[in-house]
Amino acid sequence: MSEEKLEFQAEVARLLDIVVHSLYSNKEIFLRELISNASDACDRLRYLSLTEPGLAASAADLKITISLDKKARTVTVADNGIGMSREEAIENLGTIARSGTTAFLESLTGDARKDAALIGQFGVGFYSAFSVASRIEVVTRRAGSKAAEDAVKWASEGAGAFTVSEAERDHCGTSVTVFLAKDQGEFLEEHRIRQIVKTYSDHIPLPIMLAKGDVKDKDGEEEQLNSGSALWTRPKSEITDEQYQEFYHHVGHVFDEPWLTLHNRAEGKIEYTSLLFIPTMAPYDLMHPDRRHRVKLYVKRVFITDDCEELMPSWLRFVRGIVDSEDLPLNVSREMLQHNLLVAKIRQALVKRIFAELKKKADKQPDEYAHFWETFGAVLKEGLYEDAEYRDPILDLARFRSTVSAGPAQDNNDLVSLADYVGRMKEGQDAIYYIAGDQLDALRASPQLEGFRARGVEVLLFTDPIDEFWVPMVGTFQEKPFKSVTSGGIDLAKIKQDAKGDKAEADSEAKEKPDDAAMAHLILAFKQSLGDAVKDVRASDRLTDSAVCLVADEGDMDLHLERLLKHHGHMDLAASKRILEINPTHPLIRKLGALAEDK
Ligand code: ADP
Ligand code: MG
Repeated sequence: MSEEKLEFQAEVARLLDIVVHSLYSNKEIFLRELISNASDACDRLRYLSLTEPGLAASAADLKITISLDKKARTVTVADNGIGMSREEAIENLGTIARSGTTAFLESLTGDARKDAALIGQFGVGFYSAFSVASRIEVVTRRAGSKAAEDAVKWASEGAGAFTVSEAERDHCGTSVTVFLAKDQGEFLEEHRIRQIVKTYSDHIPLPIMLAKGDVKDKDGEEEQLNSGSALWTRPKSEITDEQYQEFYHHVGHVFDEPWLTLHNRAEGKIEYTSLLFIPTMAPYDLMHPDRRHRVKLYVKRVFITDDCEELMPSWLRFVRGIVDSEDLPLNVSREMLQHNLLVAKIRQALVKRIFAELKKKADKQPDEYAHFWETFGAVLKEGLYEDAEYRDPILDLARFRSTVSAGPAQDNNDLVSLADYVGRMKEGQDAIYYIAGDQLDALRASPQLEGFRARGVEVLLFTDPIDEFWVPMVGTFQEKPFKSVTSGGIDLAKIKQDAKGDKAEADSEAKEKPDDAAMAHLILAFKQSLGDAVKDVRASDRLTDSAVCLVADEGDMDLHLERLLKHHGHMDLAASKRILEINPTHPLIRKLGALAEDK
């Protein structure tokens, strides 16, 4: 069959355009990406060979070979890993399956400099090679295929289309040949390649070889460029920050700096090594529940899967890294992992360790911790809803904005913990008050807060959608119930006034006492004219400056939650009727009261 021409998926075409135009500062990373893919391909073959004995021989001597051809101006990265079938090559190299891609593309600004930084975080993988290439040819043969002729050649110049044709390859695996663009000659120099591999790929646990001399000479000499042992097996003291960081980039497929690096060996009843990272920045698919590249599972240095949900709860899905178990059998199947006691124990220990580290940071470096919380708090709070087992430690780690923290939204320094809040509760206050909404500013301006503010009672401001869902599940903190200030049944009169509150009270006293008879008339008049539109009308001490506000009756759905559910497609939700609260001290209400009485 002759050559077939195919178009890139629209997202790929856009990405390629951006790579070529924005990825100019750090082109050398293309080599890291190709090596990373070759290493993944070898991992996959090794795992497959555990269950398909026919593949054992091909998985015996896995390695990555780089060869340079000065005449042809090519750099080739070859592996003897799992390879790709024709369909796989079209699918994997012509489309992007990654879930955050659309979000990433939307976040691009068009300003090349800014976009280059974003690309750095996103990681464009295979396509980064187009930043140095005028053409790329991939010859690949899937493991398990019978004949050399089963190989396939994928080729592209990066502009809109690629071709696929038949090819030959002696053994399974993939060779990616990069035809260097005119000004990219530096990558033909051995010393440059050596330096790039040492910098970015030293941690790769397979040998990375540089073919010496003439590439056509198959038995030519080779030089190993990396140390070739799994990074996590080395003693901590021998690993530099840079090496940890490079490993994080490789394992996590993300390119910021890790905020926390947790490297531990567990010995005793259960034996395993874990090397976990908490990123500094939120990845593009953070809120996408089925994102790939979670914590990877290894058994005795052999890669098993990067899709073991049981290893890390979904509310810690921002954690990257590896776990290498000594106790699990090498041929462990996906089904076995699902109800595995050992895996459950490891997960428990990992969560405990992560909590301990976070707690340490929260206590010792509150500013750094606040940044972490801003980035990942909304995800962690999902655990309050999903995992009763971890409720207490998460409540302990949770931070909130409140009416006491007056700073702007970007100001991290004024996040409060629930313990802070409870410690500041007023005499007579028996609940943790909160108000939920989308925008901090709008929340701060809510009329329902006035009475609380006048009495100096702190109110937490909940702006994450998840907040309204965990509150009913959690119910209390240190035996104090959470209560929404936009729901009825709040008796502010019980709370003792502080000095500032006293002054507010004195001010309102000076405003003349409300006229109870007039209010009764007014409430009646409101009820008559509003009819079924409200559930009730009542005078309230919740307000100081505003004339009226709406609140939810006790037991009814809170205002914001109802809006939120409607917004998410629950249009059928019957709207609960609200209670109209009026402020008897407000001039407008007083005037209306007088009119109602006269009638
Ligand atoms: P990622 O590595 O994050 O999945 P890449 O853009 O680097 O994304 O690679 C895209 C896909 O192409 C890989 O997921 C893999 O399926 C396939 N691929 C790339 N290089 C190789 C290789 N050397 N051997 C086998 N498959 C490969
Ligand atoms: Mg990759």
